[in-house]
Amino acid sequence: MKTATRLGKKSLLAAVLGLLGLAVQPVSAEERAKDLFGAEKLPTATAAQSIGFYSKGCFAGGVAIPMDGPTWQVMRPSRNRRWGHPAMIALIEKLSRDAAADGWPGLLIGDISQPRGGPMMTGHASHQIGLDADIWLTPMPGRTMTRAQRESMSATLMVDEKTHLVKDALWTPQHTALLKRAASYPEVERILVNPGIKKKLCDTVRGDRSWLRKIRPFWGHDYHFHMRIGCQPGSPNCKAQEATPDDDGCGKPLAWWFTEEPWRPNKNPDAPKARDVMTMANLPKECRAVLDAPGPDSAEAATYHGGAVPVAVAAPEPEATPQPAATASGGDDLPGAANAFAATPRMGAPVPRPRPPAN
Ligand SMILES: [Zn+2]
Repeated sequence: MKTATRLGKKSLLAAVLGLLGLAVQPVSAEERAKDLFGAEKLPTATAAQSIGFYSKGCFAGGVAIPMDGPTWQVMRPSRNRRWGHPAMIALIEKLSRDAAADGWPGLLIGDISQPRGGPMMTGHASHQIGLDADIWLTPMPGRTMTRAQRESMSATLMVDEKTHLVKDALWTPQHTALLKRAASYPEVERILVNPGIKKKLCDTVRGDRSWLRKIRPFWGHDYHFHMRIGCQPGSPNCKAQEATPDDDGCGKPLAWWFTEEPWRPNKNPDAPKARDVMTMANLPKECRAVLDAPGPDSAEAATYHGGAVPVAVAAPEPEATPQPAATASGGDDLPGAANAFAATPRMGAPVPRPRPPAN
């Protein structure tokens, strides 16, 4: 009886709120994962570990890439997304050095992850476990930019929005070399680029084309590329993504992107995005402990300086366990055929697909 009364009161309340025009929130705000992870200013001071999937997880023991290095500068610093798994940060620094040796003036670093990962208040379905990084396709200027300049400088749009083809006046052999260098590292499993950029590579790369397998077409990614590395040792709860197909991906799957289908307007642009409804219950349970874990004294104490990983509390490495591959849906809310984690889209069987948010 009591339950019935309470239920009755609850629906009465809902009805009253409805009459007042107030929405009844289906998710209690304090449990919304993006609010909790978005509020974290510092990582955990524990051993590095990625937990969950690229689009549904968190990570511990993150380190920050310094705002400046000899061959890189961090962009949009106010977002506080220069955090990643130490292996990711080390690899970005390595790429910046190797790319400079190849003739690229230095990297402008976009979003990596929040200090403890997790879903973000804005942008990105992935970038949640410290293993994704956005790098601008704009070369680094030869001067150290001020913070204000890093917030306001616009990136170069490399692709014509109508034809979805690369703007030939902007594309250089150094852009190709940068992507080839990034794809050369065994840790890098995928690099997401705009379909126009993938096509440019397909049309122009001669000789070794094996690395094109890792270059994956996706919406957006027209002023930056997105470098994703695999699960790292010491992360038994990190969920691997599907392997990419063995071919260069330049055939039919790429042709699909130059049809009208992928560019249909989103029929339901106001539908809530995954991050808007994701609660702590949707994330791996270990992410609660990540939120609760102590942090370092300062961001500087957790900033990566050339290999000396500043882990305040070194935990023993958990035994490596085999990592199950992600399911076809990739744990993401994107349509299977055009999912950044899934197999390359195939031609045929066209069904209307919503255009997903930027990855
Ligand atoms: Zn990205």
